[in-house]
Amino acid sequence: CGIFAYLNYNATRERRYIVEVLFNGLRRLEYRGYDSSGISLDADPSHAPFRLSSGSLLPSPPPLVFRQEGKIENLVTTFYQEADVTDLDLQISFQSHVGIAHTRWATHGSPSPTNSHPQTSGEGNEFLVVHNGIITNHMVLKETLLRHGFHFESETDTEVIPKLAKFVYDSLNEDLASNGGEDKQTVPFTQVVMEVMRQLEGAYALIFKSPYYPNELVACKRGSPLLLGVKEAGDKRSDTYVEGDLLAKDHGKPKEYYLASDANAIVEHTKRVLVIEDNEVVHMKDGVVAIFKFEFDKSKRLLRPASVQR
Ligand code: GLU
Repeated sequence: CGIFAYLNYNATRERRYIVEVLFNGLRRLEYRGYDSSGISLDADPSHAPFRLSSGSLLPSPPPLVFRQEGKIENLVTTFYQEADVTDLDLQISFQSHVGIAHTRWATHGSPSPTNSHPQTSGEGNEFLVVHNGIITNHMVLKETLLRHGFHFESETDTEVIPKLAKFVYDSLNEDLASNGGEDKQTVPFTQVVMEVMRQLEGAYALIFKSPYYPNELVACKRGSPLLLGVKEAGDKRSDTYVEGDLLAKDHGKPKEYYLASDANAIVEHTKRVLVIEDNEVVHMKDGVVAIFKFEFDKSKRLLRPASVQR
């Protein structure tokens, strides 16, 4: 029922700070109603490389996921019990860190840790998604993804989204490899998300995180609310938002970004808040925010529905 994300760039912050920003974001969204909650954040980059059962190595460790039923304080307790507290106390600094968070009001599947978000693509947490809304064509998508060998863990409509992202990522990279040859290019994160959007029907605000794109965050929306906040070094809370300023391509300056379903989860950090419109895709990378308008053309869908029997 509420989504939240925090990305810092060149703003050195310890893990405890990052986690508390996520929890506070969720507390500000509580009034929207919820029955469970969850967060995902980056694992310590020095963790051993993770090998998928397919044999390939993930470029960065699988993001950590914590999910819990009931009050946000249950999630907070779970986190501080399960997380490696030494890590928190060592104050490991990240040059950039991407955290996502969710308060869920169940529409499909009972409240439970497994049905809480982030929902994932499976092994290695290759794609993680927080979702506010309902995917109305999730049954058809699920049936098709099952035929492509995906396994589902939750009863949510949302779980098709990270699985679709994984399907799209693999398909587009196969195409690149067969056309491109040597130079190891991979598809941009935004392209993966736009292909996913093309498949989805219903209402959504989505935030995506992936170990393939460790310092990036992509979000999009259609029907459900989404806001973006930007805070730069030296910003005061009274600063007003100027569009050119917000999207300035200034690579070195420390910046902190916030995404949320409601401005009240952002304004304690910055007053430079932008309302994201339907069919817009927000991409944050290397201290730059880009916003695209996505043109739908369903005829270009990558995943063809398995013949639907009636
Ligand atoms: N439909 C999704 C679910 O039931 C998201 C609900 C929400 O917006 O919290 O998991």
